[in-house]
Amino acid sequence: MINFALTLAFAAVLLLQSPPAVTITGARIIDGTGAAPRTGSVRIEGDRITAVGDVAPRDGDVVVDGRGLALAPGFIDIHNHSTSGLLQNPAAETQVAQGITTLVVGADGSSPWPIAAFLADRRKSPAAVNVMVMVGHATVRRQVMNDDYKRPARDEEIARMAALVEQGMSEGAIGLSSGLEYEVGSYSDTKELVALAKAAAKHGGFYMSHIRDEADRAFEAFSEAIAIGEQARIPVQISHIKLGTVAVWRKSAAVVRLVEAARKRGVDVTADCYPYDAWHSTITVLVPNKRYDDPASVKKALDDVGGARNVMIDRDRAHPEYEFKTLDAIAKAQGITPVELFIQIVKDGGASVVGKSMVEEDIRRFYSQPWVMVASDGGIGLRHPRSAGSFPRVLGKFVREERWLSLQEAVRKMTSAPAARLKLADRGTIAAGRIADLVLFDPATIADRSTFQDPFVLATGVKGVWVSGARVWDAGKPTGAVPGQMLAR
Ligand SMILES: [Zn+2]
Repeated sequence: MINFALTLAFAAVLLLQSPPAVTITGARIIDGTGAAPRTGSVRIEGDRITAVGDVAPRDGDVVVDGRGLALAPGFIDIHNHSTSGLLQNPAAETQVAQGITTLVVGADGSSPWPIAAFLADRRKSPAAVNVMVMVGHATVRRQVMNDDYKRPARDEEIARMAALVEQGMSEGAIGLSSGLEYEVGSYSDTKELVALAKAAAKHGGFYMSHIRDEADRAFEAFSEAIAIGEQARIPVQISHIKLGTVAVWRKSAAVVRLVEAARKRGVDVTADCYPYDAWHSTITVLVPNKRYDDPASVKKALDDVGGARNVMIDRDRAHPEYEFKTLDAIAKAQGITPVELFIQIVKDGGASVVGKSMVEEDIRRFYSQPWVMVASDGGIGLRHPRSAGSFPRVLGKFVREERWLSLQEAVRKMTSAPAARLKLADRGTIAAGRIADLVLFDPATIADRSTFQDPFVLATGVKGVWVSGARVWDAGKPTGAVPGQMLAR
């Protein structure tokens, strides 16, 4: 009897503490499936959506007026680099202001390790957004090969790496990522990757790759990613799909043919794309063979990005007067060649630059494919405008201004498409019973504001964001709530 009374009292306390239900009224509901928007209301109780459509608020509900606004499932960023950023900034303003409610870390082959420790730490200090984690190929490669990684792995090393991938997967990772253009991953061969992908596949994971070459040899690299999926029988996600040099610019139709042929054979290939045509890095990354004082290598590097007019200095400690000018303009003003200028800048200590990586025609063709999602490849504190602008940029520039795609298709690429890849059954769409991860935004004004000069300016147009039913964004500010969960496999 005492127990029963205690239980009752406990239930009453819980009832008192549970937040009031929320009804968002009269919004254009874009449900994430790609269906046409329809006007209606959505009611949230606890962490769930309980009703959608012709729903009247009940007494005691918090009522949010959604008239004139769009209500979509929270955006899911399948390629995000906020691993350490979330720790310093759990409110994640730059992410939440875009409408992001779930992000995936551990991309490009580099992940936290061990996965169990990462998940436990993050659970102790939660953030505003949900987090999922991949096992990094380079991460397990270093675990096994230590500093002796500049060679293909031996069979017994591959077996040990596979065991680590399985360990990461059973600890809660959702797949295997690789970064084959980067130092540690670049020494691996396809055989190694197939073996590790098989280990991830055993646990229901997918394979996500920053492919081996996004430049002159991009087609070989796309084919390798597809072959890994085919041989390991694992779904493949091509990260930040890109044609990055003059030699392959405007060849996106051929990439689409390659991927569609694989999909017809039954290989589950998808991709994500960020909505920017330029990268931001140090000037030396232009020259892959690292011969920065060799005029022929430098000339090839500049030719690859379409010439010196496509490289803008954004920071140069030795020559602040160069900042926000192109190599072409600076060289002309000095009466030297861009190659001579490049060599001098590197000698003087280098600079950070913005380089053209893609042409709009290719970005547009990629976004027109149903199997291409929106992802940022950005993250908290990363100096590229994509970190704070990707999702609003697609909705503002590509949907509203350029009319490349419909609002509902863009939202599908940000919600149910990544949710399907991530096997998130109860997120990514708006329907009764789903988790209430939601974004309320103004389709007429949503826009990115971040630039290469000022990469952290918050996007505008997002009015409200809810994660598991708790409001994390209100009136242009984070609310301070940190309902984000670790979504382990
Ligand atoms: Zn990458």
